[in-house]
Amino acid sequence: MINLKLPRIKLCQLPTDLEPASILSEKLGNVNIYFKRDDNTGLAMGGNKGRKLEFLLADAVKNGSDVIITTGSIQSNHARMTCAACKKLGIDVILVLKGKKPSSFQGNLLLEKLMNADIRFVDALSYADINITVNYIMGELKAEGKKPYFIPVGGSVGLGACGYVDGALELFQQADKQALRIDYIVNAVGSGGTSAGFEVGVRLAKKNSKIVGISVDAEKSVFKQDIARIAQDCASLLKVDLNILPEDVIVFDKYIGEEGYGKPSRQGIEAIKLVAETEGIILDPVYSGKAMAGLIDLVKKGYFKDGSNIVFLHTGGTPALFDMLVDSGN
Ligand SMILES: *Cc1c(COP(=O)(O)O)cnc(C)c1O
Repeated sequence: MINLKLPRIKLCQLPTDLEPASILSEKLGNVNIYFKRDDNTGLAMGGNKGRKLEFLLADAVKNGSDVIITTGSIQSNHARMTCAACKKLGIDVILVLKGKKPSSFQGNLLLEKLMNADIRFVDALSYADINITVNYIMGELKAEGKKPYFIPVGGSVGLGACGYVDGALELFQQADKQALRIDYIVNAVGSGGTSAGFEVGVRLAKKNSKIVGISVDAEKSVFKQDIARIAQDCASLLKVDLNILPEDVIVFDKYIGEEGYGKPSRQGIEAIKLVAETEGIILDPVYSGKAMAGLIDLVKKGYFKDGSNIVFLHTGGTPALFDMLVDSGN
């Protein structure tokens, strides 16, 4: 691992495994699929936010912060993992979640409840509106003499993306050991920090792997801009001279599903079932299931060259399964 020279706190179980999915690959034909198991990073049931939090929370601690505030959707994996990390570090944490307080707490909310999380539900339409509430809470905390530290949605800022620069370097080191040439890396895009880290990491490792993002939320034009911007911020924190342009970033936005972010799609559920029955690996309905639906469709459409080696980044999110699929009959 290169020394990223930034403060970092060990929170995750790393490295995560890189494993072949040979039965799934055979079923799809013409490509070799591997899973990078970032669903197994730890922090109250794993996922991709852990790597980002190792850098973000180190910065908070360095700044002497004593309370962390973050935000996300009702079933935010980022909120759940931030909560777990803060509990582990003994720092106060406030989760400002976008939406109405539900009548029962399932999935990520159930885990947050078990951790005795301080949750504030805000029924707003956008994160811009949520941030008004966040600023208000920050003001109150400061007035009480506290030192709050805000982590934006998904931890998707330059510093958070450093977690996935490290994740990319970890992956390439594992691949090199197995003499595996990675042609493509496929991952779900929700706020762009993971992809941004990979864009920086692939350049630092001097590899030709293409980073293929599958949007679960916004249009590709939005994410191409976001990812390039976060990647540039990340590169400047690492003091490396890179030029990452929106047009260099690959994002597909055809797999969000009819009902949009946070709602299961038919293709996504089929992808979850296929991966479960071929590999015994469980994906989630909001992110990784939709990303896998994209991967499968792109294989069918011949997007990947025959014989390509594709790494699917399993970003976690499985707790949401227990909120969304239990009583839907799916
Ligand atoms: C947050 C999240 C993503 C998206 O990662 P970004 O860095 O926000 O693009 C993907 N999968 C899961 C399970 C997530 O929780």
